[in-house]
Amino acid sequence: MRKWAFRGLTAPVVLFVLFGAFVWVMEVYPRRVAHPALKLAEGTLAIEHARIYVSPTDPPIDDGSILIRNGLIVAVGKQIDIPPGAPQLPCSGCVVTAGFWNAHVHFSEPKWAGAEFKSAATLNAQLVDMFLRRGFATIVDLGSNPADTLAIRRRVESTELNGPFIYTSGPPLYPPHGIPFYLHDTTPAWIRALMLQPATPAAAQDDVRRNLAAGSDVIKLFTGSWVAHGRVLPMPLAIAKSAVETAHLNGKLVFAHPSSLAGVRVAMDSGVDVLAHAADDTEGIGPGLLATIVHNNMAMIPTLKMFTTTVTADPHYMDPIYAEVRQFHSLGGTLIFGTDAGYMTDYSTEGEFEALGKCGLNAMDVLAMLTTNPAAKLGVSTQKGTVTPGKLADLTVLDADPASDLSNFSRVRAVIRSGRVILQSFRLPRLPHP
Ligand SMILES: [Zn+2]
Repeated sequence: MRKWAFRGLTAPVVLFVLFGAFVWVMEVYPRRVAHPALKLAEGTLAIEHARIYVSPTDPPIDDGSILIRNGLIVAVGKQIDIPPGAPQLPCSGCVVTAGFWNAHVHFSEPKWAGAEFKSAATLNAQLVDMFLRRGFATIVDLGSNPADTLAIRRRVESTELNGPFIYTSGPPLYPPHGIPFYLHDTTPAWIRALMLQPATPAAAQDDVRRNLAAGSDVIKLFTGSWVAHGRVLPMPLAIAKSAVETAHLNGKLVFAHPSSLAGVRVAMDSGVDVLAHAADDTEGIGPGLLATIVHNNMAMIPTLKMFTTTVTADPHYMDPIYAEVRQFHSLGGTLIFGTDAGYMTDYSTEGEFEALGKCGLNAMDVLAMLTTNPAAKLGVSTQKGTVTPGKLADLTVLDADPASDLSNFSRVRAVIRSGRVILQSFRLPRLPHP
């Protein structure tokens, strides 16, 4: 009798312990180093005979050279001394800019799940496909499982993987009962139950604090959430205000998914820093409101290609969204580049550049979106954003000049980050086939 009772107790306990161990290994252990230190490359690297876009506002340097030492840019110009024997990045007719940013991505596709335990070869191939061959040296993850993002970030910073510098928002905050329908339909109920939907300002404050303590660098709010086709649920203003205030008191920016006029207003009135999309329901969003957004110094990541490819095939659907971005730009608003890669499974960037051209942006406007604007917004202009001595050697090397065609921004030849060549897709020494 006693033995049976003992066994009856043991089975659930063993199961519980095994489940706890599984959760710890998959979800807790990968988060152990939330903020790994930046590792700079050692040694020198030179680029010669390049057209160099030092910044979007400086004239390009033709037939220029760049000298990199120990991860930093040490000299840029037409006549600089390159030490004899310094390793060279091959560049005949290449175009060099500061490293590109993609300020709206996700690691939420199933292929990133369990990133802590995936092989470096698998993850490297995915990082090349999603980011490096598109030229991105810095990315902002706006909502993924932190266990995956933090594992990738730690492995990238240890240089085990070749990847971009990663900022992350951790889990986004939704309005109460405000999970978007396109996530609702594809997410199991138990995961939905874990998604943050603070019901009070105090709960929002707790969620933001927990996110920041767990390694988030920015906060993401759904100030307007598409809870059904044609229906946006705004986040209650008091909840958004509390979240933004807590983030700002901790020196962190807030990104918002606005969706509609109501969502834009909540973002504006709560003090959000960056709209993570243009509003796709443009009803009521005119020059007056856009001028206020510009005045409030709120930046915008348009994500135009995402709307063109995931919402509808109607060719006129985009016209008012293009008009919104064009007006925002002409009013002097700060635009930041982002594609929503990860939600979007097509990672190519040509379509976004083409769409930005339709909004009246020229090559230097787009270069600012890719480099100086995000660096300034994230407060790292002294380290990133321009090809300037003293800054990190984060560089994107193109095959052709975007000044002649915006799509040339997608013709990426190499990416250098902190002085390390993390992509060199051209003229790789080919091993002879056996
Ligand atoms: Zn997104």
